[in-house]
Amino acid sequence: MTIHTDAVIVGAGPVGLFQAFQLGLQDIRSHIIDALPHVGGQCVELYADKPIYDIPGIPLCTGRELVAQLQAQVTPFAPSFHLNQEVTQVVRLDDGFISVNTSAGQHFICKVLVIAAGVGAFQARKLAVEGATELEGTHVHYRLGDASRFAGQDVVVLGGEESAIAAALTLTLEAQAPSQQPRSVTLMHRRDVFTAEPLLLQAMRDAVASGKLQLQIGQPTALLSNAQHLHALQVATPDGRTIERPAQHVLVFLGLSPKLGPIAHWGLALERKQLVVNTETFATDVPGIFAVGDINSYPGKKKLILCGFHEATLAAFGAAAIVHPTRKTLLQYTTTSTELHRLLGLV
Ligand code: FAD
Repeated sequence: MTIHTDAVIVGAGPVGLFQAFQLGLQDIRSHIIDALPHVGGQCVELYADKPIYDIPGIPLCTGRELVAQLQAQVTPFAPSFHLNQEVTQVVRLDDGFISVNTSAGQHFICKVLVIAAGVGAFQARKLAVEGATELEGTHVHYRLGDASRFAGQDVVVLGGEESAIAAALTLTLEAQAPSQQPRSVTLMHRRDVFTAEPLLLQAMRDAVASGKLQLQIGQPTALLSNAQHLHALQVATPDGRTIERPAQHVLVFLGLSPKLGPIAHWGLALERKQLVVNTETFATDVPGIFAVGDINSYPGKKKLILCGFHEATLAAFGAAAIVHPTRKTLLQYTTTSTELHRLLGLV
């Protein structure tokens, strides 16, 4: 199915969210696409509970709190979110419209595209052990998915952070019917230091104490398989031993790393992996395509949220000239403009 819309925003980070708000003030509705399953970009993925001190008018907030406020602010314009899918292809058509495809098979035709893709799409760090690529999807996994597929099997969960601990605990849940439970669940990390909320850490230690969850400190060094069927992991332990751990499935949660990915192939001018823009409207060299936030490059660029907000504001004015070519794009104040109050749903 193709969605026809005024604007598509690539990236639901802080700048992408504010972009939707600024487009809303210009009477432009938008669809926002993000590769992650949640909004917030780096603020939520990398420092959700850490403080930010340099957002104008907000002396202190966490990454998560800032994103919650941005979500609340954009509510009047009700952007449509398409999460968990990467924008893979962007093509400017001969008629001036822009065609956008995502990894989930969704297709958009839009008048303007704003790329707010930050440092790129976050992708799971891959397991750097020989044979892991060949076993990906069958025995090596980067997301939990349907836990019942591990019924009666030995599962090793790799990682020391919240996502790994949460996945390991989910697999040990008593709520699952016994026939659906894995035979064994092992949480493996290179050292006995785990990072997560205290409650989750306590639940993990309790599960280990009760024997529901096994803990293995060490690093995987080989995947032992027969005819593409995994049966064990070879593990180097901190005391210098090499052991084997039964495993038909390995769940890998070694963090996420940003990848510029497909953006490099959309025919847009790049400078050191960033999109070149003019600072009047933050347009790229392709008409109708704008770039804001950490993804763009121009003289004096600073990768700060505040700067991204300014860029999004000017990009919205640039977008309005394309989406509403016959309207005059006047500067209006949200304080006093009845037109903006109408758009904000206040009158
Ligand atoms: P991002 O936050 O990176 O969001 C981009 C989004 O686009 C991501 O969610 C990504 O998944 C998505 N995406 C990318 N490519 C695609 C694609 N092809 N398809 C679909 N989705 C895609 N800045 C400050 O101003 N103050 C601070 O105190 C501050 N502290 C920081 C602390 C840390 C630890 C870090 C790492 C950064 C900090 N920053 C701070 C910088 C700030 O986080 C960034 O400037 C800001 O996140 C940029 O926002 P953005 O929306 O441009 O990009």
